[in-house]
Amino acid sequence: MATVIDGKAVAQTIRSEIAEEVRALSQKYGKVPGLAVVIVGNRKDSQSYVGMKRKACAELGIKSFDIDLPEQVSESDLIKQVHQLNVNPDVHGILVQLPLPKHINEEKVLSEISLEKDVDGFHPLNIGKLAMKDRDPLFLPCTPKACIELLSRSGVSIKGKKAVVVGRSNIVGLPASLLLLKADATVTIVHSRTTQPESIIREADIVIAAAGQPMMIKGSWIKPGAAVIDVGTNAVDDPTKKSGYRLVGDVDFEEASKVAGWITPVPGGVGPMTVTMLLHNTLEGAKRCFEKNH
Ligand code: NAD
Repeated sequence: MATVIDGKAVAQTIRSEIAEEVRALSQKYGKVPGLAVVIVGNRKDSQSYVGMKRKACAELGIKSFDIDLPEQVSESDLIKQVHQLNVNPDVHGILVQLPLPKHINEEKVLSEISLEKDVDGFHPLNIGKLAMKDRDPLFLPCTPKACIELLSRSGVSIKGKKAVVVGRSNIVGLPASLLLLKADATVTIVHSRTTQPESIIREADIVIAAAGQPMMIKGSWIKPGAAVIDVGTNAVDDPTKKSGYRLVGDVDFEEASKVAGWITPVPGGVGPMTVTMLLHNTLEGAKRCFEKNH
């Protein structure tokens, strides 16, 4: 039976470490890290993510700057807001909650965020550096960073291992594969056009699943002893639940946990770690800024 990696517990440990560092910074410089969270419109899911991020800031002593803009805000007004946050010395991280309304060009807005404050790690230059050998981006994208942190805190070594990433999105699959490569794994990416994914996944010592396909990866696809990080968060109908649905991953947990060496559950695996990595990035941004101006 696999060791189940408790993402909630790991996240809690890291949050205590962050809170401790925030206290130390406050004593040393008389300042705390600041995170600006920008939300456009009132999508329920986005509001709930933003709420979680703001609450987590408060718990850790990070100052949060809340920018709530109406659905119909123009692209230029949103960019103006970003520019104001770029020059605000109390803000060390800027997060623009995605998706943005259709009339706004997301890439354009994200590329206006100052590189030093790009705590989501989505700025094209940060992604570019992630893809280059011997270069380090200022910030790593939060979900892929969460996957690597879960592996390393569980004692899974990456160097020289065969890793398979399922999914190639800009926010999860692609940067996760680049991070594994930087950690010296031999990396294969499986995506929607891959034929016979099971034979490729079965070779992997490490699997990061981020396809958004409920329970697609079966126990028989997993190499015995492999480490399985399941990013997938899919709602499936469940009439036994009050809400009428439950969340499942991209991996069939029941089957795979009998074969794998380590596995993350859904929920309670990668999810709680993602927001924690955002807070960690904000702390790193603030530290760089305080040290530079000291
Ligand atoms: P996406 O839809 O942007 O990308 C999905 C990727 O999976 C694509 O590259 C596609 O080629 C690939 N794919 C689709 N069907 C496939 C199949 N049958 N076989 C192999 N590959 C296939 O999704 P995303 O934003 O990368 O998110 C992926 C999943 O991770 C979703 O379930 C999402 O909810 C979840 N997610 C969780 C967190 C978290 O913090 N836990 C964060 C981000 C995303």
